[in-house]
Amino acid sequence: MKNVIVLIILLSICVLSHAQFNTVTPSSSIYKIREKKDISKIEQPDSTAINREPLSENSSKWIQQYLSVSYPLDRMVVNSPYGMRRDPFTGKRKQHNGIDFHARNDEVYAMMQGDVVKVGQDKQSGIFAILRHGNYTVSYCHLSSVLVKTGSKVKAGEVVAITGNSGKSTGEHLHLGVKCDGKYVNPNILLQYIKEVREEE
Ligand SMILES: [Zn+2]
Repeated sequence: MKNVIVLIILLSICVLSHAQFNTVTPSSSIYKIREKKDISKIEQPDSTAINREPLSENSSKWIQQYLSVSYPLDRMVVNSPYGMRRDPFTGKRKQHNGIDFHARNDEVYAMMQGDVVKVGQDKQSGIFAILRHGNYTVSYCHLSSVLVKTGSKVKAGEVVAITGNSGKSTGEHLHLGVKCDGKYVNPNILLQYIKEVREEE
């Protein structure tokens, strides 16, 4: 019983520090993300309550959910959205299979727990990492370095790479590509899911 209580306290601390870590100043980002969390509003089990009754089922569910997703960057400003666009190199209209985010030597996080399916480098994507989260695969491109190895497991919020300007790129940014069952989809699907989980308490 005591162990359970200690674990719950530790989890609560994790959540609190995570919330603080995610706190950033408001930006022009189209995603209202990483909103300043009022720590005082986060339910904290006080010691007397713990002695009588451990964290309620709802609270622990909230902790698990909170820890189960992460945005890929601390600050997400879109440089170029998903969909048809004029190719910056050829000038021709072409499908952009991901979202480009503004980045400057930034840490890139795993959005959920999953597996690193590929780390590599090519002329187009530069240094890249591909993570699998269930039916979804997420690729991060134009990186300067990758901090995980093919075959390793990642947790949501784990730093997997550092952004860069490698490959066919007109300037430093993070290209985020998402496939569902092998087909490119708009990464907003996942980002929206993350937003919803974060907003649920
Ligand atoms: Zn791109």
